[in-house]
Amino acid sequence: MTGRRLVYMDHAATTPAAPEIVEAMLPYFTERFGNPSSIYGIARESKAAIDTAREQVAHAINASPEEIYITSGGTESDNWAIKGVAYAHRKRGKRIITSAIEHHAVLHTCQYLERQGFEVTYLPVDEFGRVSLSALADAITDETILVSIMAANNEIGTLEPIADCARICRERGVYFHTDAVQAIGSVPVDVRAQDVDLLSLSAHKFYGPKGIGALYIRKGVRLDNLLHGGSQEQRHRAGTENLAGIVGMGAAIERAVGRQEEYARRLTSLRKRLLSGIMERIEHVRLNGHPTERLPGNLNCSFEFIEGEGMLLLLDHAGVAASTGSACTSGSLEPSHVLLAIGLEHATAHGSLRLTLGESNTEADVDYVLEALPPIVERLRTMSPLYADYRRSCNVQ
Ligand SMILES: *Cc1c(COP(=O)(O)O)cnc(C)c1O
Repeated sequence: MTGRRLVYMDHAATTPAAPEIVEAMLPYFTERFGNPSSIYGIARESKAAIDTAREQVAHAINASPEEIYITSGGTESDNWAIKGVAYAHRKRGKRIITSAIEHHAVLHTCQYLERQGFEVTYLPVDEFGRVSLSALADAITDETILVSIMAANNEIGTLEPIADCARICRERGVYFHTDAVQAIGSVPVDVRAQDVDLLSLSAHKFYGPKGIGALYIRKGVRLDNLLHGGSQEQRHRAGTENLAGIVGMGAAIERAVGRQEEYARRLTSLRKRLLSGIMERIEHVRLNGHPTERLPGNLNCSFEFIEGEGMLLLLDHAGVAASTGSACTSGSLEPSHVLLAIGLEHATAHGSLRLTLGESNTEADVDYVLEALPPIVERLRTMSPLYADYRRSCNVQ
């Protein structure tokens, strides 16, 4: 390897803030620092900047500005949507439905509510990671108050049929929440057309800053507050606003949605090049997630006989940043709940590699990974007892 190259292919984990977004944020740390709740000139400017950002977020998802509530990111939005509806409507019923492949921000919130006496149904998914609409319809009872199904899965990239889920919920009088954190900027999102009641988004997944996000709450949907204090966010989310973050999120979502089609087209083509290159060069690989109904930039493959951690380590050494659903390094022996939910054996799940493409990636990056990966897989397989067993069973010398 000559020189030090960084090929960043972990955009599902986070994206870099675009330079023009950082530029737009900077004045709000210094000269435009006024507290939006105050009444003098620079405070009113801050308030106006927040109003503009709120309009940008609303416009990007076809909501009204009054339906956009600023939060600290995807995790808070998911927590608020689920706990907020659960506590506000517990007298009507204590049942919640979600899927087995949600982000931990949803799953762990639901598990917490189970400990508070709520009953949660975790819908299974098919081999591609899609929920079944008939299973959803069957799971709804008179006690069900909320359904939460993600728009796009962060690990395997599968897109869920959220408009259909929302329609079923609407017919049965149940609120529908979607975690759209991975979807914004990658696939079209429209809260009216898709008829969702609550939607979570997070700026650092679409080239905005970290620690800022929003919850869309359709007008008329009632939920309890998580944070109590000042009267910010129409009295629903207390705390002095993350002014620069909010400005960054507004600018970033406008930018991301404006280039979404072109972004999706470019990333789909790069992903296809990456997948076919891997399939041509490496044996015993399976694609995880849906072959077509998936995020444009998400590629998730399992490499039989080896561990994801080994691949990550050697890829990092080659200057490639990626991710795995294997879990040995995280202190848990269980591989990703998503990979298990689509039916993978533990061993296959442990051999998974997630490469998520983004703005900075080029064909040269893809070709670089296609050059770096085969010898890494080969090297790890040479050391793998599983592979040795397999070779023996095939009578290969
Ligand atoms: C990243 C992510 C989150 C968490 O968002 P944060 O802003 O990092 O808290 C939630 N859901 C999904 C699907 C994500 O990809």
